Amino acid sequence: MPTTIFVALLFFFGIAVGSFTNVLIDRYKPEKSLFSLKRLRGRSHCDSCGRTLSAIELIPIASFIFLRGKCRECKSRLSFQYPLVEVVTGAIFAGVPLFLNSFYNISGGRFFLFAAEWWYYALAAFWVIVCLGLLIVFVIDLKHYIVPDELNLFFIIVGILIISILWNFRDSVFPFRESFLKNYVLVFSPFLGLLANRILGFAAGGLFFLILFFASRGRGMGMGDVKLAFALGLLFGWPDVGLSIIISFILGGVFSLALFIAGAKTMKDRVPFAPFLVTGIAATFFFGHALIGWYFSLFGM
Ligand SMILES: [Zn+2]
Repeated sequence: MPTTIFVALLFFFGIAVGSFTNVLIDRYKPEKSLFSLKRLRGRSHCDSCGRTLSAIELIPIASFIFLRGKCRECKSRLSFQYPLVEVVTGAIFAGVPLFLNSFYNISGGRFFLFAAEWWYYALAAFWVIVCLGLLIVFVIDLKHYIVPDELNLFFIIVGILIISILWNFRDSVFPFRESFLKNYVLVFSPFLGLLANRILGFAAGGLFFLILFFASRGRGMGMGDVKLAFALGLLFGWPDVGLSIIISFILGGVFSLALFIAGAKTMKDRVPFAPFLVTGIAATFFFGHALIGWYFSLFGM
């Protein structure tokens, strides 16, 4: 199976998963567990008029374009969340395995099923569900100003699974398994080693947010943000989590300032922080090495 067809299949499979992700997000209630299966039962309906959606309206993306983003019955606008989450999930399912394939130089540039060892597919699958979890955190925090505890716990468990795969197959296959910043890890980390960098990431990421939490008396950051920073520190390690925090503060600062100038928010309003942290970690994961290289090139290094 040629690479392009495999990538396209992953993308379309991801879009289908994305539409279930929308259901999971929509039916989330802060007082109930995110992973309750009962929540996924029952047909979806229009938020405005309550009409049950027909099968054809449940086709991802195509239905949104076909209906021009409006409910067929009451003509109220459908949220852009639906097509966006679907497309991003498709991009995660296709992009993450493709990225890891090139990052670890697996299967010599060829990319399709059964071209690599089982642990590569396991690793790719774990990173795909991490990214899917990050997308869910992004949207739920934006809508509810909350980061669900069960997602943070989920990140910790998957993080331990990822570390154990990287640990077991280290010698032959995972150059730069310490960090997605590749050789720049030598510049930013006093330790060199998978476990040392994950423990340092866990401690540094989490404690930094914990200090912010207490310094701002819980007004700047929520406890959910603190737990998320601990989890991301373990998942991505040091210095990756450090770079993602810097990116998230730059993005958060620019965004808050823009909202403030536009008069949309006052300084007292809360801005959910997890979306910035998720964007920062995603930028570090995919482009961290290139970003640091670009930054150093500004100083002729
Ligand atoms: Zn409607």
